[in-house]
Amino acid sequence: MSDLWNDGDPIADTAAPDGPIETRWERRKFGAKLVNPANRRKLTVIVVGTGLAGGAAAATLAEAGYHVKSYCYQDSPRRAHSIAAQGGINAAKNYRNDGDSIYRLFYDTVKGGDFRARESNVYRLAQVSVNIIDQCVAQGVPFAREYGGLLDNRSFGGTQVSRTFYARGQTGQQLLLGAYQAMERQIGLGNIEMNARHEMLELIVVDGKARGIVVRDLVSGEITTELADAVVLASGGYGNVFFLSTNAKGCNVTASWRAHRKGALFANPCYTQIHPTCIPESGTHQSKLTLMSESLRNDGRVWVPARAGDHRAPGDIPEDERDYYLERIYPSFGNLVPRDIASRAAKNVCDEGRGVGPGGLGVYLDFADAIGRLGRPAVEAKYGNLFEMYQRITGEDPYLAPMRIYPAVHYTMGGLWVDYDLQSTIPGLFVVGEANFSDHGANRLGASALMQGLADGYFVLPATIGNYLAAGPFEKLRDDHPAVVDARASVRKRLDRFLEIDGDRTVDSFHRELGHVMWEYCGMERTEEGLTKAIGLIRGLRDEFWQRVKVPGVGEQLNQNLEKAGRVADFFELAELMCIDALHRAESAGGHFRAESQTPDGEALRHDDRFSYVAAWEYADPDGKPTLHKEALDFEYVHPSTRSYK
Ligand SMILES: Cc1cc2nc3c(=O)[nH]c(=O)nc-3n(C[C@H](O)[C@H](O)[C@H](O)COP(=O)(O)OP(=O)(O)OC[C@H]3O[C@@H](n4cnc5c(N)ncnc54)[C@H](O)[C@@H]3O)c2cc1C
Repeated sequence: MSDLWNDGDPIADTAAPDGPIETRWERRKFGAKLVNPANRRKLTVIVVGTGLAGGAAAATLAEAGYHVKSYCYQDSPRRAHSIAAQGGINAAKNYRNDGDSIYRLFYDTVKGGDFRARESNVYRLAQVSVNIIDQCVAQGVPFAREYGGLLDNRSFGGTQVSRTFYARGQTGQQLLLGAYQAMERQIGLGNIEMNARHEMLELIVVDGKARGIVVRDLVSGEITTELADAVVLASGGYGNVFFLSTNAKGCNVTASWRAHRKGALFANPCYTQIHPTCIPESGTHQSKLTLMSESLRNDGRVWVPARAGDHRAPGDIPEDERDYYLERIYPSFGNLVPRDIASRAAKNVCDEGRGVGPGGLGVYLDFADAIGRLGRPAVEAKYGNLFEMYQRITGEDPYLAPMRIYPAVHYTMGGLWVDYDLQSTIPGLFVVGEANFSDHGANRLGASALMQGLADGYFVLPATIGNYLAAGPFEKLRDDHPAVVDARASVRKRLDRFLEIDGDRTVDSFHRELGHVMWEYCGMERTEEGLTKAIGLIRGLRDEFWQRVKVPGVGEQLNQNLEKAGRVADFFELAELMCIDALHRAESAGGHFRAESQTPDGEALRHDDRFSYVAAWEYADPDGKPTLHKEALDFEYVHPSTRSYK
């Protein structure tokens, strides 16, 4: 119990089978109830989101015979944020014969997540990873190939094998085109009703079950209710709570947060991934940051001047006056240490005054060795589009001078709590992809998000949702059901309120200020004092938002300020919960580094005796206290140890 939260009952993942981990997924699928093909046509499933998770889920459910209604806020399903993914997707195919296996991918992922993920889920993810590649190849995804025609692989952080499949620096785009084409086929057949430019603003819960959503047509402003037998959220991550991040500008938490307010527990909100290789911030004009793919660390070497205050141009600093600090501190993994470790190491050298570029907030990522060893054409073939992107943004040529990089917010491991079936605590509400909390623990390894999104969408959800739908079709609902009317009215009231405030500060100015608070106090390093301060600042800013925000225009037409106001209002509540979660977790784990909990040499220090659990939070309105439910984590196979990459 604390001033900030209540302690609730523990929760358990009752869907996960026990017994040998290798057969759990097979046994779960066999134990799950089936829906016969003729009955599937009578069942409607809403899928919110058309990224890799939602696109794959919608296509597969429709292919299986369900009637699917899909929603996204972009003007086309293929513009979902997944399209931005650059570097690759993991799979335990062991094509390189370098010692990879399902067990090793499982092991790396549990360890990479700093022993804060569920073993059953992670093992299943590793198993399913091999099917994903076959599925995508069959769809025509143009993965990179070796000279002999076999699929090529590269390495990502936290592993010592090459298991990352890629399509140059556009892996997400190519995978999404595969999922999108599969969706389009089903749209053409009339099995998917696609609703682009529609934003979900509320979840409809009837008799304790998720039965629909309220959406706003972003072009006409019309508000409608959409009803179904089950709802799947595939609405992505919430990194934009920090304002500046590598995520697409539209990424937000609204769909998840609306479900959270309706009773879905929100798990591990404080676990945020800060990616080490992003183009440093260049001024206050920016509204987003740009990722330079982790794949670049296969060949790029990270360094800073050995001496603080050395402002010479990189080419003028001789080898023996450089510090290749990742290779020095972590000789086994070198430049391919996981993201949380590389990010903190970059922060440390910058804090020591050895950072490079404006404000000293940058480190070099240098390809001179790789160009010397492989030749420029080979480097161009692997990373050409990334180099071009860097040059366009910074005006510097990375073939001639090292790139400058700095950590930035990139991914959120937290999300709605789901059981092994990917079902939230609201029956009938399933959550897939980055929107759920599963699989990555406190830190996600590179190239694992695409794997998880596609595993969830193509393979896991389609197998588990049937177990729930077998009890349907559920009672037919009408638009005038009181729960439906209430949900629609609450959306209308909230939108009207934004428009009525008529204050004098823009939505963006609030969002930017909130982002500063989050980055400062709930970013790469967190302290009890800072988090307590942040909670006070967030509350003050949130109150001010509801008094002073200015949303011009009306609701009955395209109004992007109105859209943003709703998203930022939800970010305020999420931000507070993130800080409370970070405050209660008085240990360091993965992306959550508490300065009070570190080893003598500055590494993250977990406290397994007190924190080996998933923190799943129950909503309380902004004046109340959220309730903490703990799901204990058992490690039968990969026993928690000090995570070392040295
Ligand atoms: C720059 C960048 C590069 C990356 N590179 C890699 C990589 O190489 N490998 C890797 O594994 N991972 C990578 N990631 C992470 C990965 O891209 C994402 O985690 C993943 O694509 C998320 O997929 P998703 O389907 O869960 O969500 P998204 O792709 O974010 O899709 C969310 C969908 O939900 C919809 N939506 C959201 N809210 C609403 C709402 N309220 N109403 C209606 N629709 C809504 C959106 O319209 C969208 O269609 C990268 C991330 C970034 C930012």
